Amino acid sequence: MSHSPSQSDENQVCVIIGASHAAAQLATSLRQQGWSGPIRMIGDEGGLPYQRPPLSKAFLCGEKDADSLIIRPSAFYEKHEIEFIPGRVTAIDRVAKTLTLADGSEQHYDKLALCTGTRVIRLPIQGANLGGVHYLRTLADVEGIRRELPDSGRVVIIGGGYIGLETAASLRKQGIDVVVLEMAERVLQRVTAPEVSAFYQRMHSEAGVTIETGTMVAAFEGEERVERVVCADGRFYPADMVIVGIGVRPNSELADAAGLEIDNGIVVDEYCQTQDPDIVAAGDCANQWDPRSGQRRRLESVPNAVEQAKTAAATLCGEKIPQISLPWFWSDQYDLKLQMAGLNQGYDQVVIRGTADSGCSFAAFYFQQGQLIAADCINRAPEFMLAKKLLSQKQTADMTRLADEAIPVKQLMAELTTSS
Ligand SMILES: Cc1cc2nc3c(=O)[nH]c(=O)nc-3n(C[C@H](O)[C@H](O)[C@H](O)COP(=O)(O)OP(=O)(O)OC[C@H]3O[C@@H](n4cnc5c(N)ncnc54)[C@H](O)[C@@H]3O)c2cc1C
Repeated sequence: MSHSPSQSDENQVCVIIGASHAAAQLATSLRQQGWSGPIRMIGDEGGLPYQRPPLSKAFLCGEKDADSLIIRPSAFYEKHEIEFIPGRVTAIDRVAKTLTLADGSEQHYDKLALCTGTRVIRLPIQGANLGGVHYLRTLADVEGIRRELPDSGRVVIIGGGYIGLETAASLRKQGIDVVVLEMAERVLQRVTAPEVSAFYQRMHSEAGVTIETGTMVAAFEGEERVERVVCADGRFYPADMVIVGIGVRPNSELADAAGLEIDNGIVVDEYCQTQDPDIVAAGDCANQWDPRSGQRRRLESVPNAVEQAKTAAATLCGEKIPQISLPWFWSDQYDLKLQMAGLNQGYDQVVIRGTADSGCSFAAFYFQQGQLIAADCINRAPEFMLAKKLLSQKQTADMTRLADEAIPVKQLMAELTTSS
């Protein structure tokens, strides 16, 4: 690790609130960038940062155990003198520069990093507190689900977003009867083109999952445990378990109470700085200014949490490096690896390479006024590389050539390298 002691003095304390993807990276990057004072990471899930993505994938399938999820082993934090404090921060005093924890203890900080992430949106309907109704955000949530799975032959999933569909795939692989109820007219409506939604709907029905779209859930019924899910139109679905995946909200109340600016998350600039020069925010909780698009955006992905954490650490060390990396994301369902590059909001045209309505591999390129803005690549790693290159170089792609499978990706890539 490089060391530049001038960037911080060894008496300066940095406290990180939250202990997940953003926090783990921020603590590591602080040391890499020369922070020499104490680093304390306070997390309310009881343990060291772990990888969340496998929760709805390999961990739910029982293919991974909890120990294998850990982002870095405890020896790493010990070696780099990063202290983990289990607990929940309940208040920030920006004048005294202290934090209060739920157990009444206090922590002083010189610099503070907010990596508080998001929490699930709960369904406020009748029967919401019945046994067998689950959410899926934390290791504890999935341990609870896994404990009950042996007695749950029929599971109803509320929400056809990535989490809902990944969960459906993981349960179906274990032979469980799965019904997905989605309020919108198609699955993944908020995040993909109709072609991609239709593809996933087909893949899930071929695997034996029932997906009902345009369906509003009205109540969960049962004695002590959930027995059925009742929809607003009177239809009902028997269930031994319900898993709700209808989205998340940023954990920004702490920052709000401390007087920091909030707007769908904690408002930060391109350096992950809040309006308090001693406080940064990174990850799912941060709504960041993107100088390239001239817009704010709050993203929910591991690559974003990691990149913002690196930027935030640099800012705390006195070095200003704007966060302008290309957003990307992935989702695994069955044998389908979806890789997404860029952000497709505001697209006006979609170009498909391959076929979306048969087989299990194609790429969807999203354009806005003739400019490529994003791509969804399913089992298409070369197209994903191409899209990343096109997007980061802001190159205009020829739609006809992109759609033409007779032209190999290698050739498109070579042309790009030559012309750039
Ligand atoms: C099931 C699932 C599957 C996913 N799959 C993918 C995927 O395939 N690809 C991908 O890119 N992303 C995926 N994501 C999203 C990804 O996990 C998040 O983007 C990432 O976890 C964000 O990291 P974070 O550190 O910003 O926040 P979080 O992971 O939300 O962590 C914030 C932490 O801070 C703690 N905290 C909050 N407030 C306090 C407080 N006051 N005091 C102490 N601690 C506090 C929280 O309890 C939590 O532990 C998935 C998420 C889930 C739930």
